[in-house]
Amino acid sequence: MLVLGTHNVKKGIELRDFLLPYGVELKTLADFPNSIEVVEDGDSFAANAILKATQQARHLDQWVIGEDSGLLVDALDGAPGIYSARYSGENATDESNNELLLKELSDVPTQKRAAHYACHVVLSDPQGEVRLQCHDICRGRIRKAPVGEGGFGYDPLFEVVEYHRTFGEMGTSVKSVLSHRARAMRCFIPQLLPFIRDGVFA
Ligand code: IMP
Repeated sequence: MLVLGTHNVKKGIELRDFLLPYGVELKTLADFPNSIEVVEDGDSFAANAILKATQQARHLDQWVIGEDSGLLVDALDGAPGIYSARYSGENATDESNNELLLKELSDVPTQKRAAHYACHVVLSDPQGEVRLQCHDICRGRIRKAPVGEGGFGYDPLFEVVEYHRTFGEMGTSVKSVLSHRARAMRCFIPQLLPFIRDGVFA
């Protein structure tokens, strides 16, 4: 069994779907009422992913995947970045974050609305040692209004320019190929295979 160190249900579903074909059952923290709330006070996606993986792994005595991700907007010098989840404050929702992002970009023309999502994935062993890590990004542009109901977070505003579609419009199967999380997992899974073959997560 492998545990994903997140409470984000939609992120959990996306990651679970990447691992299902390999016969790995990915549990989330919802399955572990005794999990701890890891303080994400690192200064990078990598640092936060490592914190989520290693602290939870030691606490639960399990193999844990830590994932940290977010949106970086060029015109905002990389904001919201590692603060993507709480961009509009402590009680932020996807809607309030998207509203604030549109407000901050209200004077920015289309050609200057470049952005990218970033994702860092880490595997920690039960002793809290980092055994694998991968990082990747997906480039795009921030639309002037939300389009589409799919995905989560900033997806209705995030357009993959070559596809003329937002992640919100694309549907799961396309996002699962193009996204920052998909790209990071394409690096991660081949390195995970030897652990799977050795029955480490059985
Ligand atoms: P984390 O759970 O601390 O890593 O925060 C991730 C935040 O980044 C989410 O709450 C979203 O705001 C944003 N984010 C990360 N990945 C995605 C994605 O695939 N779609 C939309 N927003 C995302």
